[in-house]
Amino acid sequence: MQKAVQGLKPENLWRYFSDLSDIPRESGNEEGVRRFLLAFAKEHNLEALVDTIGNVIIRKQAYKGYENRPWVALQGHMDMVCVKEEGSNHDFTKDPIKLVRDGDFLKADGTTLGGDNGIAIALVMDILSDPSCKHGPIEAIFTVSEETGLTGAFNIEQKHVNSRLMINLDSEDEGVLYIGCAGGIEVRSSMPVTWTKVESASKAFILTANGMLGGHSGAEIHKQRANAIKVAARVLHQGPDFQVCKAEGGTKRNVIPSVCTVTFVINTKDEPLLRSLVEKVQAELAGEYEISDPGLALSLVETDLPLQAVDKQVSRRFFTAVYAAPHGVDAMSMSIPGIVETSTNLAIMRLEEECFKVISSHRSSVLSARDDIAHRFASVFKLSGAQVGFEGAYPSWKPNPHSALTGFCAKAYEEYTGRKPEITAIHAGLECGIINSKIEGM
Ligand SMILES: [Zn+2]
Repeated sequence: MQKAVQGLKPENLWRYFSDLSDIPRESGNEEGVRRFLLAFAKEHNLEALVDTIGNVIIRKQAYKGYENRPWVALQGHMDMVCVKEEGSNHDFTKDPIKLVRDGDFLKADGTTLGGDNGIAIALVMDILSDPSCKHGPIEAIFTVSEETGLTGAFNIEQKHVNSRLMINLDSEDEGVLYIGCAGGIEVRSSMPVTWTKVESASKAFILTANGMLGGHSGAEIHKQRANAIKVAARVLHQGPDFQVCKAEGGTKRNVIPSVCTVTFVINTKDEPLLRSLVEKVQAELAGEYEISDPGLALSLVETDLPLQAVDKQVSRRFFTAVYAAPHGVDAMSMSIPGIVETSTNLAIMRLEEECFKVISSHRSSVLSARDDIAHRFASVFKLSGAQVGFEGAYPSWKPNPHSALTGFCAKAYEEYTGRKPEITAIHAGLECGIINSKIEGM
């Protein structure tokens, strides 16, 4: 046992956490932890299996007298996020995580700790190995590669799972019970372009929208921050005729775009009109976003005239579609006040050789609403002549504040701590939503 956890209670829990910390377990490299768990099951005479994708399921029969209770799954993931400090020579494929005590906090020396989700596994191992713990039949479900695409959850097989009740132990905050999560889907829109020669009486400009805070499209969409791609479209769609030759905004589908640049050509005589438009939109946005995005800035810089640019009809049609497409919060939850139910992130925009491309990501805790917002978004681009495709759909977990398990967990938490837990939902994808959709009747 590593020194940092010596003396901590419950002793078994911290010993298991320390053992886990000694085993490298980056997503996709779960073999070591899988072997460790199977050896643990054998040592404690517990039934264990590994499914096709590599998830480990361990079963413990009920405590004497509790045989008539339903099966309950306790679930966590085996992999961890592996990030180290700059200059650290830690090798995540073979080095143990070095645990460090800092007052009441347990940390790691120069790396991520792996508390997410090592603590869940340690906790379940403590229960599984404790002969005095009174419970009905328990099924531990330890999944692979949660952090890199929820792979283990997506490949859970109903035939391996007895439980229809599940408690996932991958939450982030003490005293908070999550009872719902968002599902998601991506829309990919592409509008074919035709390039034409640029006329000589033209000028080229780079329009840059930046200075925005961006943020995570699940956790921060309710902050109503500006989207840099939408900001650029707000200028262009109402301006004089323009021909785009370069366009780029956004980085990842789950990040609200904070920078967008568009290089385009206009007729020289339209320059004053364009300049006053940029000023007008800048002033409008400064007012609209003074609280959420005080740094929002628009700039217009002249650049070298290109030889070719996308023709002006297509350029305008594309940026009008971007202007019209939804972005941000679409609906708030009616069952859990203050939580976003449905949202869109217009995430990435690019001009490529053959087409303009947009990738948008849509979330909702209500499955039909997830698909509805995605189709509404896609309809805008379809109307403007783009091809659209749907990808990467994952299911939601619709909150049910009246579930018996929620009530039971809340009561247990209160009895144990003397405090009522907060009961809420999260506007992001969790393994719960996926496993729930794979196991009929869960
Ligand atoms: Zn996690």
